[in-house]
Amino acid sequence: MPVGNANGQKAHNDSPPVVERLPDEADVDDVLAERHNVSLSFMEEPPGEIVTGNEMVLTLCVACPSGCDLVGHTLAIRGQEGVVIDGLELVEFDGTANKTAPFTVQVPEGLGEYTWTAVFPVLAEEDIIHEESTHAFSFTVQPHPTSMAVWDVDSPIIAGRDFEITVGVKCGLHCNLANQKVAVYDQDGNAVAAGELGDALYSSSIDLYWTVLKLKAPEKTGSFTWEAKFPRPDDGIPHDECGFSFSFSTAQPPDCEVTVRVIDKETSDPIGNAQVTMRPNLYTDFTDEQGEARIGVPRGEYKVSISAARPAPRGIDYKWGEVPRVTRGHEYIVYVPPENKETLANFEATYQIDEDTTIEVELVGIIEPPEEDTL
Ligand SMILES: [Zn+2]
Ligand SMILES: [Zn+2]
Repeated sequence: MPVGNANGQKAHNDSPPVVERLPDEADVDDVLAERHNVSLSFMEEPPGEIVTGNEMVLTLCVACPSGCDLVGHTLAIRGQEGVVIDGLELVEFDGTANKTAPFTVQVPEGLGEYTWTAVFPVLAEEDIIHEESTHAFSFTVQPHPTSMAVWDVDSPIIAGRDFEITVGVKCGLHCNLANQKVAVYDQDGNAVAAGELGDALYSSSIDLYWTVLKLKAPEKTGSFTWEAKFPRPDDGIPHDECGFSFSFSTAQPPDCEVTVRVIDKETSDPIGNAQVTMRPNLYTDFTDEQGEARIGVPRGEYKVSISAARPAPRGIDYKWGEVPRVTRGHEYIVYVPPENKETLANFEATYQIDEDTTIEVELVGIIEPPEEDTL
């Protein structure tokens, strides 16, 4: 392929003699010049995957097998639809290779696979022609990564009743996700709720956008796993989809109210903040300042357990086994049935609940030494 050279240049000394002033002098240079094939590469290969909106910082390298200094020649990068960047000047020759300065390229916004080509355009000089050289490279433009969480899920939920969950979504690149859509799908994949993320952050330290979604529990009792999803938004910055599965169980509506009253056997003081659980189905509540918890349950047999503890004040004499001790502020008082003084096992008893019932429980407080010096 003839290469158009600028004007009638004399051949290099080492070249064969040239007949001057031929009609087409460019062709003469073309015929007589040496041809060099350079190799074109990146200092570091571009990443194979890159998130939309990001940029690549690249440096191109050109080496001629004859060790030519090519400083001043400019390179370009072509995309599928034309020039991505040009004017990339070779600015450094280290005796072997020529390099551009590091340059920045914005990646396309559209997602998908791209193949671009770095181009060293032909460099035709008086006596040497450096042929065009290209180096193709491919990369995939990815959406912004996102993650989701679901919280405030009560369980059990009364079968067929409405309930609420809180759903939050976060972009790995800290985008504002206000008004983006979220949806919830049931165990069969049916959409059961949809909403939009609010414009307030969950907290100043986490850029999590969130909303509360109303759902309706299944009519039957059992355990269910549903999934909240954040689909890829239709417009705006491409964001990846994400999801979060959450589980809950449903129970029959309560027939009976169970009042559990917990007091200190020795002082008759109410014991507050004691956790009362009723199984199966894990009904749970904490006692109030009067030492009372009220839990609605369907008729049936329940194992009731109570767990209560509080930090012990300093300076109290007590015995652990036969060893006299004084509290130093690391001990806990645990409340257990009198018969469990040795084992410190929590209160646990089984009740048949057929009507509203009050369960009175008397516990004793035992000072438990810190774990590291129990022995
Ligand atoms: Zn060369
Ligand atoms: Zn984003």
